[in-house]
Amino acid sequence: MSYLAKNYNRKKISFKSGKGSYLFSTDGKKYLDMLSGIAVNSLGHAHPKLVKTIRNQSKKLWHVSNAFQIPEGEKLAKKLCQKTFADYIIFQNSGAEATEAAIKIARRYFYSIGKPNKTRILCIKNSFHGRTLATIFASGSKKMTEGFGHVSGFDHFIFGDHKSLKKKITKNTAAIMVETIMGEGGIKVIPDWCLKELRKLCDKKKILLILDEVQCGISRTGDFFAFEKSKVKPDIVPIAKGIGGGFPIGAVLMNKKVASGMTPGTHGSTFGGNPLAMAVGNTVMDIVSTKKFLNNVKKSSKYFFSNLNKLKQKYPNIIKDIRGRGLLIGIQLHTEQTKFIKKLMDNKLLTIRAAENVVRILPPLNVKKKEIDIALKIIDKVCSEIK
Ligand SMILES: *Cc1c(COP(=O)(O)O)cnc(C)c1O
Repeated sequence: MSYLAKNYNRKKISFKSGKGSYLFSTDGKKYLDMLSGIAVNSLGHAHPKLVKTIRNQSKKLWHVSNAFQIPEGEKLAKKLCQKTFADYIIFQNSGAEATEAAIKIARRYFYSIGKPNKTRILCIKNSFHGRTLATIFASGSKKMTEGFGHVSGFDHFIFGDHKSLKKKITKNTAAIMVETIMGEGGIKVIPDWCLKELRKLCDKKKILLILDEVQCGISRTGDFFAFEKSKVKPDIVPIAKGIGGGFPIGAVLMNKKVASGMTPGTHGSTFGGNPLAMAVGNTVMDIVSTKKFLNNVKKSSKYFFSNLNKLKQKYPNIIKDIRGRGLLIGIQLHTEQTKFIKKLMDNKLLTIRAAENVVRILPPLNVKKKEIDIALKIIDKVCSEIK
């Protein structure tokens, strides 16, 4: 029997170790891991540089209070700012904390300029921004909010419905918050022209643009941020998942304008930005943000997508669509995907579901071509068996 509460429907499988793109189960099987703990293990398992970083830092210092200067955090913040639109960073421990802090920063900015009623955040219906009380209501999902009372302050529009989006902006709207690519929602990409229009709209209405890059950021798309290709500059960007490579790290990136509201005492976190986490974050950042690394993600992506599209042509009655960008990939099926995912797992390929019948493929960003070939072969086999 398990003493863990039953808030997860866990598969009956556990792992004892991992190496690169592979996971080894306690019953002696070897699995190709193409979900990476949901876009978290950006460098696969037990990456030698991350192991070394943890080993070295763990001998020196794990945790000190944010009451003191933390040089490792200063260093990572500088790297993030130099690489992106951001002028300032607040470190957290998870994605939900980062998105929740993003909401606070937006509200606080308007408060600080004498507009305390501008608090409402406009989000996409059935998006995903985390599981805290505020962020579930940001998602506007009935399934996630049912039984949890009510948190006000969020309005919703339907993905792609630009008319309703414009109508939902009121004098009390503080920000529009969207995932640049909807992850849990089914790997739905917001097109670049749309991001540009969002920016224009926010400028026109004098409200803030928050792009949630918790899942699609940190080189996942082949650019450091998914929005970079559009040339749009957001005001606030929460990140998490990939930046720790498996160590829990969250952060909010922001521009100078909105950072002005975050004066001493307005936000904090006991663990956020501690030396051990920051040491890991620095190492991940140094590896995944180089041009060479990003080009390699693009190359792997191109190869993966072109071959998945061939499988789509081969099995038009099974595969409806191939979605996503970079190594954030969705195979949309014509029917419910649970069985398909189970069959992939029986063939030693680990993937995970997303909404709209999507099988999500999130390999480590340093996945090898050989491993992509193995995954493609297994997907092909499973399709042929279903057929
Ligand atoms: C996973 C995710 C979150 C929440 O992150 P947690 O670390 O699980 O709290 C928020 N936003 C997006 C887009 C995510 O994919």
